[in-house]
Amino acid sequence: MSSINIHRAKWVLPIVQPPIENGAVAVANGKIVRVGTYDNLKEKGIQGKTIDHGEGVLMPALVNAHTHLELSALTGLKADNFVAWLKQVIEGKFSLHETIRKSAERLSYQILKQTGTGLIGNIKNSPEAAPASEVKEVSFFEFLGFNKETAIKRWPIWEEYLKKYPEALPAAHAPYSVHPAFLQKIKQIADERKQIFSIHIAESEAEVEFLLSGRGPLYDLLTEKGFWAEDFTPPQRRPIAYLASLGLLSPRTLCVHCVEVNEEDVSTLQKCGAKICLCPRSNAYLGLKDAPWPLFKKSGLLLCLGTDSLASNTDLNLFNEMVFLLEKNAFSASELLEMATWRGSLALGQGNYFGTMFPGAHADLLFIPLPNKTTLSALAETVIYTGAKGNIRWVEDGTTAG
Ligand SMILES: [Zn+2]
Repeated sequence: MSSINIHRAKWVLPIVQPPIENGAVAVANGKIVRVGTYDNLKEKGIQGKTIDHGEGVLMPALVNAHTHLELSALTGLKADNFVAWLKQVIEGKFSLHETIRKSAERLSYQILKQTGTGLIGNIKNSPEAAPASEVKEVSFFEFLGFNKETAIKRWPIWEEYLKKYPEALPAAHAPYSVHPAFLQKIKQIADERKQIFSIHIAESEAEVEFLLSGRGPLYDLLTEKGFWAEDFTPPQRRPIAYLASLGLLSPRTLCVHCVEVNEEDVSTLQKCGAKICLCPRSNAYLGLKDAPWPLFKKSGLLLCLGTDSLASNTDLNLFNEMVFLLEKNAFSASELLEMATWRGSLALGQGNYFGTMFPGAHADLLFIPLPNKTTLSALAETVIYTGAKGNIRWVEDGTTAG
């Protein structure tokens, strides 16, 4: 039988249950065995070596549910508006040398690890296997092709990649960059594979204008780049209603951004049970609106967090994403910690295996030292601010297996 380590700390934050004072987590083979008070674990006869981490909190590593590490070299983009930025990304990607792309990507994995992230949802346009990294990854292979002829040409290559990597999940870029017939085909494949389908949706006013009228800056960009689809009829619907009309919303749909969302859209999302990934600092970076946080907060929808890429964010530190929302009074500190851990795991189709301390979950654990007199009521907020300052340490034992 494998040996058990009992990690004790002043506080344990299991996420799926309230914080435990004088808490302990029993770990074997890189998996959580049991969580409770230290005394309780001892009473239950859990035998093992005790590692006392002292004043501070043990918590699951973070889950960054939406990023694009392949864009890591495109830092410092500045644009007056969303569509001008998008144009810079398209051009930057085409001219990016593979060596530079890959070295920036590798650095991003290291930074994610240093800032406490244990699992990422990573969007890829250049499908390839996830590199050996200490950060676990759910890869999304993203399809792009608004013009039908282009989409038909690209489709077999994309489908081949998905077959080659059965664990990779299907993603569509956005409603203005994927032909509607192909949006439906991608979702169909995701459903056949019982996998999560991800799409950027309702991110900008330009997207709303484009879907309502077929005109505006996105139409101008598509025509300029030769991507326009002659057979496209504007659906005259807002983004969420458009996805619903194509049958793309289901509990296995991960809607990324959801900024341009009204009450009716929220009720559509609720009916379909779709999941939402908020990327608030990316939205702010691009001068977009805030997502309707109060509506989402009371909706009961599954909410998780992503940094998006370094092309639209200053860093990939998910603690900073929480600080941003905390300072906007959008959510409570406890809600944010749940969004940045367990909810991300659920949104990526990883169930209770990440971001929690359920027995059997991966023991990817962080220790965050806290001031001696941290009270229960201040705990979650103190954890977020201390984590954002980089004052974190990985519990090494937790990642040795599994
Ligand atoms: Zn994105």
